[in-house]
Amino acid sequence: MLSNKAQSITPSPTLLIDAKAKKMKREGVDVIGFGAGEPDFETPEHIKQAAIQAIGDGFTRYTPVAGALDLQEAICHKLKRDNNLSYQPQEIVASNGAKHSLSNIFAALLNPGDEVIIPAPFWVSYPEIVKIHDGIPVIVPTHIENRCKITVTELADALTEKTKAIIINSPNNPTGQVYTRTELQAIADFAIKHNLYVISDEIYEKLIYGKEEHLSIASLGAEIKKRTIVVNGVSKAYAMTGWRIGYTASIAPIAKLMSSIQSHTTSNANAIAQRATIAALLGPEDSLRDMRIAFAERRDYMVQQIDTIPELTCIEPEGAFYVFVDVSRLFGRAYHGQTVTTSVDFATLLLDNVQVAVVPGSAFGAPDYIRFSYALAMEQMQKGMKRFEQFIQEIK
Ligand SMILES: *Cc1c(COP(=O)(O)O)cnc(C)c1O
Repeated sequence: MLSNKAQSITPSPTLLIDAKAKKMKREGVDVIGFGAGEPDFETPEHIKQAAIQAIGDGFTRYTPVAGALDLQEAICHKLKRDNNLSYQPQEIVASNGAKHSLSNIFAALLNPGDEVIIPAPFWVSYPEIVKIHDGIPVIVPTHIENRCKITVTELADALTEKTKAIIINSPNNPTGQVYTRTELQAIADFAIKHNLYVISDEIYEKLIYGKEEHLSIASLGAEIKKRTIVVNGVSKAYAMTGWRIGYTASIAPIAKLMSSIQSHTTSNANAIAQRATIAALLGPEDSLRDMRIAFAERRDYMVQQIDTIPELTCIEPEGAFYVFVDVSRLFGRAYHGQTVTTSVDFATLLLDNVQVAVVPGSAFGAPDYIRFSYALAMEQMQKGMKRFEQFIQEIK
């Protein structure tokens, strides 16, 4: 008899569809992958060099569990410079990616039965990580009128005496929406009033193309800062998904608990990648700027393309590298005799028939949608969108 809890966890569906598309590619099929959850750019050269240097210097041993002091200091510096947040090194825990940071957070916060409010559409891993730590994910659908951002009214409806925390992800994966100061202030007031923690996933902060600026909810005052755990990492901003460094900033007692948990699970994050992260956080940002310019162009192209298809709607993403598209007006119609009833049908037919990979919205708690990632070259996107439009035309 294997663990019931483990068996109740759904494997990451974005990784699954990506795996299927990659497998087809390996088999020689000309797949256009809009499924990727990672930048298609190379890690900048100066970051690679810092890692090579670390190996040369023999920086190859265990570091303190929460990260080497100079890494913690670099993170403090970054938080001050970019987010106007003052933290001390002992309030920082570096882990094996932001995903690991999130796992540590819930391990530190949750008692069995504690509820965590997760606005939908959500990043696929939130509910599962909460479940792994015996919490109850409370999925709260947001509305298109509010650009898929959670409101205090919706939070109030979801609140129970078991509510422990709210997850805010801005810029958002999958919608690309960015919370404004006013919206964050309202959520902060709500969290303070009801004694809740806020988990603020800011992994896409550097990838914003619209007018809105990134703001950390923790920067809105001492009270909210105390109850916020900021999560960030280098995967998305510096094209470092494979390096596996994420981090948290929180009050020291929470940091201490997370560090204690991590000391028995993974110990410190990779020492060499820690050195590379210092170079990323303190180094020049011109590669980041180039990447942002390329993403902005691709975003504009994708939104334009979607807008030309009358059956589809999307809210223009302001950040991250995804477009979330409502395909529900096609439900009930058929592609060459095969009925499209859900976004999973849609995504499967799309991949099998025209070799275009997208992720069905059900993975994000929004079954009317599909997610396109624009982390692929413009020529590939153009080719893929041509196929996509053809596919849509053949749905009768
Ligand atoms: C990619 C992603 C993460 C995790 O990134 P790591 O590679 O584990 O650092 C966390 N949150 C969101 C919303 C993401 O899209």
